[in-house]
Amino acid sequence: MSIPKNNYTYPTTNFIDRVCTPLMNFADVAEMFRVLESTEARLEMTSVIVNFLKTVPRDELRDVIYIIQGKLHPDFYQVEFGMADKLVLKAISLTTGVPYEVIENTWTKIGDSGEVAEKLIKEKKQITLFSETLSVARVVKNLKLIEICEGKESQMLKTKYLASMLHDSGPIEAKYLCRIVTGKMRTGASIMTILDAIAITFATKEERSEIERAFNITCDSGLVAETLAKNGMRGIRAISVRIGNPIKVMLAERLSSLSEIIEKMGGTCAVEYKYDGIRAQIHISGNYVKIFSRRLEDLTDNFPDIAKSLISHFRGKEVIVEGECVAISAKTGHIQSFQDIAHRRRKYNINETIKDIPVRIFLFDMLYLDGIDLTSKPYFERRKLIEEWFNIAGIVQMSCMKIIHSTEEAERFFNDAIKERCEGIIAKSTKNESVYRAGSRGFLWIKYKKDYCGNFIDSFDLVVVGAFYGMGRRAGKYGALLMASYDSKSGRYGTVCKLGTGFDDNFLDNLPNLLNEYKSNEKPHLLDAKIIPDIWFQPGIVLEVVGAEVTISPNHAAGMNVIKEGSGIGIRFPRFTGRVRYDKEPEQSTTVSEMIKMYNMQFTDFDLTT
Ligand code: AMP
Repeated sequence: MSIPKNNYTYPTTNFIDRVCTPLMNFADVAEMFRVLESTEARLEMTSVIVNFLKTVPRDELRDVIYIIQGKLHPDFYQVEFGMADKLVLKAISLTTGVPYEVIENTWTKIGDSGEVAEKLIKEKKQITLFSETLSVARVVKNLKLIEICEGKESQMLKTKYLASMLHDSGPIEAKYLCRIVTGKMRTGASIMTILDAIAITFATKEERSEIERAFNITCDSGLVAETLAKNGMRGIRAISVRIGNPIKVMLAERLSSLSEIIEKMGGTCAVEYKYDGIRAQIHISGNYVKIFSRRLEDLTDNFPDIAKSLISHFRGKEVIVEGECVAISAKTGHIQSFQDIAHRRRKYNINETIKDIPVRIFLFDMLYLDGIDLTSKPYFERRKLIEEWFNIAGIVQMSCMKIIHSTEEAERFFNDAIKERCEGIIAKSTKNESVYRAGSRGFLWIKYKKDYCGNFIDSFDLVVVGAFYGMGRRAGKYGALLMASYDSKSGRYGTVCKLGTGFDDNFLDNLPNLLNEYKSNEKPHLLDAKIIPDIWFQPGIVLEVVGAEVTISPNHAAGMNVIKEGSGIGIRFPRFTGRVRYDKEPEQSTTVSEMIKMYNMQFTDFDLTT
């Protein structure tokens, strides 16, 4: 499959010829990381990054923006450095001359190969006299070499490239280099903080929303920063949706009753089945196809059948469409549970899986067509184009939709959706302003799920931040988890509940595996918590949890002082639904402000008639 010309330029070996003008020293980047790591408040973090960005040469800005995030490319470009801690320890040994076993012992005690490098290089530097200054250009060049190493000698080469950088590093540079190559760069600066800093450095506060839009439709912070620094806001406004760059997905708000939804929509709206599957954003250009998850992962290899069908059912040249991938029963044609489609995320044996778990995609939006950005067109126009440009048959289906004018009609549609094994419905505004709001959750789409009708008020997607050792039957395993929610305003996480029910034995046995890579020796930098678990985890894994009530809680830190002085918010009777939300990043978990809205919603009348 060829990559279209207007796509993000993927690295080739050409960079080896790149002129390495040492414009900026990596020591300056490392020093900024050091300060950032000791800063907790989002505003302070922003100003640390702003002061730093002012010193970055324009030609290196794009690389530097990725490096701040511990990467060499935008998030959606999925290449890893492929260096585990033990390989990094070898590079430290090669640089310092300290025997590997001694280094491994130190690492076992400290737990962070970055800190090990910092300590040993500090000791070594007292005796080494000569070394070159490590430039950002050289770091980028060597990291790219590490990234593309393949084959039998790759481990040895990766170690060598890292060791060569460590040789010319001070202790702080060494610490962050090791964290970058192991994928453990956790300075705590979220993408929103970085965008704030880019806007403050190169534009004005008022222009922040346009800059964020450019990011939301390209998911490429390096491109946005470079364009802004070189071409100003004119350049930013000229950035448009492009094949190959995923667009941040639009999300739905929630309301607790169908009557409220109809009222909010002004008496009439479209309603669609809310399918319980995996959201897919598909980019097609000729024979090129990419399927992105809502987390910007590349799912193309998991859904080769959907990729192939969409190409053959499309009548134009280039398109970006969205839909929900759902498993269906080979025997009855009925929609199957989310667990069935979740199997497709495992890439092995995909040919067998295609036969065992047939799928369908229910298309619900079109964002781009043959050179035209459709995100600012109204809902109906976008939906009509799907039907016009796709042959709707077989694997490729349209989401079921109806225009409604009353609560009764909404209730009937909702009941039909549940009968068809959907999760509920999504009401969509049909007004002229019903544009596709990339990356935002708003009332143009409102979801209503069956969870809202039972004893449980809703499901929450919460982040695992701690674990407690089990007792009795659960001795030797984790018995309960400490769960947190993300506060998009402060960029911090706050705990909301201790989760101990809903786990089956299999899940409990696998929990250590699932969480291992997020283990942290101390409380994560960006977490507020009053309860201290036996083990801390960096935010990474999101679980779906149902609860009976959002309550005020003196034991939990999320939403502290918002509803009541000295208290946060918590969830009563939380229960794990069995679903790990691999498709959600921790920052996409249910936010604190959503939880506060849910708390307030409890005091409005529930519509339990459906
Ligand atoms: P939630 O994950 O609860 O915030 O619900 C939003 C998700 O519902 C989207 O990200 C989609 O994956 C899914 N979904 C299912 N059917 C539809 C539909 N007809 N329109 C939009 N989203 C849908």
